[in-house]
Amino acid sequence: MKKEFKAEAKKVMDLMINSIYTNKDIFLRELISNASDAIDKLYYKDLKSDKNVDKSDYYIEIIPNKDQRSLTIKDTGIGMDETELEENLGTIAKSGTEIFKKNVKDENIDNLIGQFGVGFYSAFMVSDKIVVNSKKDDKAHKWISENAENYEIEDSEKEDQGTEITLFLKENTKDENYDIYIDQYKIKELVRRYSNYIRYPIKMEVTKS
Ligand code: ADP
Ligand code: MG
Repeated sequence: MKKEFKAEAKKVMDLMINSIYTNKDIFLRELISNASDAIDKLYYKDLKSDKNVDKSDYYIEIIPNKDQRSLTIKDTGIGMDETELEENLGTIAKSGTEIFKKNVKDENIDNLIGQFGVGFYSAFMVSDKIVVNSKKDDKAHKWISENAENYEIEDSEKEDQGTEITLFLKENTKDENYDIYIDQYKIKELVRRYSNYIRYPIKMEVTKS
């Protein structure tokens, strides 16, 4: 009799976050690629409807916050409803994007990047808490997880459609002199190095210090 392999979800998650990636920096690339996929999906949907499409409505924004030591990646994409937050972020190796690609066979949507359904969790390499605030179909929800141990979903407020992912950075991503993932030069460098191919604008408000 043939048997199926079983997996302990929590341990697989742990392996992924702590052992598989050798370079913490790649978390930003993963979140930006998800943001780009989400915008692609909305752009595609808007093009098919009779909505007036204005290209400047589609962008990604990175917002570092020194005081609370957080980094937010915001997109004006399709967003996730409660079920999608549950299924796409609550299930290891489930890719909503992969499913979308299979369902929508159209050359205009060939650029989607996601496929394995694990990239998002790489953000836990640098965060001890992640808050995903997402709005789709006029309703907003928050997905909150500490250390990828468990998660909760609650109703929330959000002005615009799309997703805002806030990473509360781990203590060990800074030393006395340098808070690496809040530093705007480091962020710029990472975007240039890993996300150069993204077709939507990636904005960040630059402050003089
Ligand atoms: P992948 O990108 O390979 O599908 P991820 O782990 O990076 O896997 O993301 C899992 C799924 O979560 C995506 O397929 C997508 O359905 C959903 N998702 C992640 N980030 C966003 C986002 N910013 N906006 C909308 N959906 C998202
Ligand atoms: Mg991804």
